[in-house]
Amino acid sequence: MAQDTNREFDAVIVGAGFAGMYMLHRLREQGLSVRVFEAGDGVGGTWYWNRYPGARCDVESLEYQFGFSDEIQRGWTWTERYSAQPEILRYQNYVADKLDLRRDMQFSTRVTSSTYDERAGLWTVETDKGDKVRARFCIMATGCLSAARVPDFNGIEDFKGEWYHTGDWPHEGVDFTGKRVAVIGTGSSAVQSIPLIAEQASHLTVFQRTANFTLPAGNRPLTEDEVRKTKEVLLENRKRARDTPGGIICFEYNETLAADMTEEERARELDGRWHMGGFAFLGSFGDLMATQEANHLAAEYARSEMRKVIKKPEIVDLLLPNDHPVGVKRLCLDTHYLETFNLPHVDIVDVKKAPIERITAKGIVAGGKGYEVDCIVFATGFDAMTGAILGVDITGKKGEKLRDKWSAGPRTYLGLGSAGFPNLFFITGPGSPSVLSNMIVSIEQHVDWISECIRRLTAGNIRSIEAKPDAEDMWVAHVNELASQTLYPQANSWYMGANIPGKPRVFMPYTGGVGVYGQKLAEVAGADYEGFTLGA
Ligand code: NAP
Repeated sequence: MAQDTNREFDAVIVGAGFAGMYMLHRLREQGLSVRVFEAGDGVGGTWYWNRYPGARCDVESLEYQFGFSDEIQRGWTWTERYSAQPEILRYQNYVADKLDLRRDMQFSTRVTSSTYDERAGLWTVETDKGDKVRARFCIMATGCLSAARVPDFNGIEDFKGEWYHTGDWPHEGVDFTGKRVAVIGTGSSAVQSIPLIAEQASHLTVFQRTANFTLPAGNRPLTEDEVRKTKEVLLENRKRARDTPGGIICFEYNETLAADMTEEERARELDGRWHMGGFAFLGSFGDLMATQEANHLAAEYARSEMRKVIKKPEIVDLLLPNDHPVGVKRLCLDTHYLETFNLPHVDIVDVKKAPIERITAKGIVAGGKGYEVDCIVFATGFDAMTGAILGVDITGKKGEKLRDKWSAGPRTYLGLGSAGFPNLFFITGPGSPSVLSNMIVSIEQHVDWISECIRRLTAGNIRSIEAKPDAEDMWVAHVNELASQTLYPQANSWYMGANIPGKPRVFMPYTGGVGVYGQKLAEVAGADYEGFTLGA
């Protein structure tokens, strides 16, 4: 039921994940009236929806938490190196309690449209529950990986069994005991869920289109000592993290080029970092993400390690990635993933060779062969980075639709705003480091920038801020130029929009790193929001 009709707020925030929660807190500190709309029935965002078995963060817990409040961080104790989804969601609820966030949040409510009224200088935000509110600022805290996507397989409506998407998992969980299960996809969500699904299923068939690089997660319980020590320095650590490329400090990037190292030195770097777990491996050489030669050395090492785990000779080649450089698709952290394929009741089907033709009442047909199953798990990913933003019908000045403006790919200035859409902000939008970084560090960086910007606008009695078209053009060109100096564009990844048929192929995140990006944000704010038009 609509709770708010014709009310006016200073700001509307769309989404109550980490970004929406912190944005609300910062704006309330300024005494602004704020309404958060959230489609789920609680806070959490990604961690609210992704409840599939094995869901776990791939950034270490001691770094994947808010860093703005000493009281909050001291009041929470993480238990594992990489937190599992239930623990992260409990943490988010703990923060929501601490800051009393829910009183300004309306749950189970999806924002359907947001329309700018030029004369009034206000956004009109409408929801699927019939709310229609007005606000000076509209802030999209919609997340980069929140529009779950099931591919348009023919016949899906005929399937008589149960089917699930990892990104929209039933809250009560799913019992696969004794069932014949198909998992479609082999990205991070599949890599995490497959070992646990295989523990229950009577038979598991994995439909793989692209083999991924997976490396040992090395998850383990945290010791009391390391948790205590981190609490002492967490806020300091967080400041340091903002100056790093990835927003994490648990490892450093080796800046030496592969060619300038001896074979022994390279082996030591690769081996040491591989066994550290996590993304440290990608920091083995300064040019690992920039040159084919350096990348090939790391990819060969990764394949040789992965090969050691796979015991069925007939599927080794299938499981080893060989069509893209390592790291250009998100690395997957493996906890018993490759080992699972050694089990007699687990099979893999190569759908690159034999694509899925249709889904029938009884299962899946691929390459002319039928696979009868009781359940299908779509681990097929998301309409990443733009899907959730464009899921809202956003109309800016002169009736322009954001969907039309972005039809050839997203266009933003700094990933924060888009010309023609005054007072509309994106948190970790396309054109910012976002998914290539520790998301919480990037969220805090953006929220702090946006809230300071709003504070200065309010103090200066300035009604609006809007990206200038030429600044936006330059930023888009700069983001593309940086990406083209890396190997990233060489894979069919969701970073490129390549997982969605018909989506424009544009490399969406900013590859220059969180630290460099932060300097740019500070420069822009310090120069009276250079590149933005401020309206009286
Ligand atoms: P994803 O990485 O996009 O993987 C989707 C998988 O489905 C890919 O293997 C893809 O194959 C396959 N697929 C898509 N459409 C298909 C089709 N029509 N036919 C056959 N296969 C198809 O999605 P995800 O695994 O949900 O992960 C998305 C991102 O979320 C991750 O990269 C990561 O950033 C984040 N995430 C993080 C964690 C973590 O923190 N540990 C866990 C889960 C997710 P192709 O590769 O050939 O496209």
